[in-house]
Amino acid sequence: MSQGLVSASYIIAAVFFILSLAGLSKQETAKRGNWFGIIGMAVALGATILNPSTTGVAWIILAMVIGAAIGIRLALKVEMTQMPELVAILHSFVGLAAVLVGFNSFIDLHPQAVNEIVLVLGEDLSTTLESAKAAFMEVSTQDKGLHLEGAMLNIHLVEVFLGIFIGAVTFTGSIVAFGKLNGRLSSKALALPHRHKLNLLAVLVSIGLMLMFVQAGGALIPLIIMTLIALAFGWHLVASIGGADMPVVVSMLNSYSGWAAAAAGFMLSNDLLIVVGALVGSSGAILSYIMCKAMNRSFISVIAGGFGSDGVASTASDEMGEYRETNAEDVADLLKHADSVVITPGYGMAVAQAQYPVAEITRKLRAMGIKVRFGIHPVAGRLPGHMNVLLAEAKVPYDIVLEMDEINEDFSDTDVVLVIGANDTVNPAAMEDPGSPIAGMPVLEVWKAQTVIGFKRSMNTGYAGVQNPLFFKDNTQMLFGDAKESVNQILAHL
Ligand code: NDP
Repeated sequence: MSQGLVSASYIIAAVFFILSLAGLSKQETAKRGNWFGIIGMAVALGATILNPSTTGVAWIILAMVIGAAIGIRLALKVEMTQMPELVAILHSFVGLAAVLVGFNSFIDLHPQAVNEIVLVLGEDLSTTLESAKAAFMEVSTQDKGLHLEGAMLNIHLVEVFLGIFIGAVTFTGSIVAFGKLNGRLSSKALALPHRHKLNLLAVLVSIGLMLMFVQAGGALIPLIIMTLIALAFGWHLVASIGGADMPVVVSMLNSYSGWAAAAAGFMLSNDLLIVVGALVGSSGAILSYIMCKAMNRSFISVIAGGFGSDGVASTASDEMGEYRETNAEDVADLLKHADSVVITPGYGMAVAQAQYPVAEITRKLRAMGIKVRFGIHPVAGRLPGHMNVLLAEAKVPYDIVLEMDEINEDFSDTDVVLVIGANDTVNPAAMEDPGSPIAGMPVLEVWKAQTVIGFKRSMNTGYAGVQNPLFFKDNTQMLFGDAKESVNQILAHL
């Protein structure tokens, strides 16, 4: 394949990626968007492999086969509720790749760096590394055309430094996000003393190291120190963000992974990687902004670490009073006599896979002439659009699925609200308790309805770890049990 054809293929692939993003922005066109993405990626991979300057094609194919085997296995196995964790861990791979590309580009330009690595790691490893160095020198003497000087060299060094910095922050930050999302790490915010100062210090020291690195025309020691600082910085940044702010973190890491890929594109002089990285980076940044607006958070406060943790300890459940329990038969009765019903699903509906019986109840009630609508909070569940995907999967018509802003005014005219496995997204403390960690976050104002039914298994808190006064209000009744079983029981009584 000629170089011109490769460039043309890259442009075609970039257009497909743009079409893909456009398609993914609406439920009706999301499937098509996905296909555009797949085609774009196939074109990009084909052009890269057939590029005349690509060597070691057998290695690339071997890596692709192994990667695809792992990817297919994971994709088949992963539950919808585990999707955010999968996304988080995939972001960490992008970060790690950017770090490796960065070090590789640096060594490419500074083969003598291998000597420095020997010094850093100690004499024991020197024999192994000496042979690696010999092999490396052999490759680098096959002239890679990398003879940068003056401003070009400085620009390249800054690219390398920033690429590794962003990559390392993304790598550890995504691992912490992965741990928090799958429950291996506590979703509570880590509150180290002077945490904002620590973050600032990490950034300032890294800037200093970058100046040293560029002034020295590239030196391994500042690069390694910065990498260690960036790894710790990424870890700390995400660890100190509280549960309720995790949606912003996930989309922010999505954005970082894009910029890390773009940085790798600059280092590898690969135009397509730059374009794709910028697309992912900017769409992630836009998503983060939307999430911040939805949660009434300042973007800077969240990324500076720990917005969600600044609140005073929330009120314990024993101070909230009594709650009332109900049963499936009574709920079915209530629904039969209602004129207007709103369902607000949350993470629990996803865990229980209750969307199918929920869709069935919706069909039944609508057939009885009852107005049924859904109220979707922008951060319900564990990933943006989580509830929309589940409801679409269960074939709930799009036109009765409304956004929080569209439905909030209607709750006062609603007879029954079914809160199915939602907690933080319907918590009045966000509006009423300035000391709450979720204070200020807009919520679905379900308590304004005549009757609210809370579907849960216990009185446990939601993801943010905050007790919910909604479940203790006079017009709320609790239907305890797995959401799918509860909804099925109601269905049987309808
Ligand atoms: P929450 O996570 O606040 O609460 C879910 C509730 O579901 C829990 O109280 C739990 O109570 C209940 N539940 C769990 N399993 C079941 C089950 N099988 N049957 C019935 N109930 C069940 O949910 P929300 O959707 O309201 O809020 C989402 C939270 O996640 C927000 O804090 C948001 O910030 C955060 N988040 C969102 C992301 C996003 O992008 N959307 C990403 C990361 C975090 P019990 O244990 O008593 O059953």
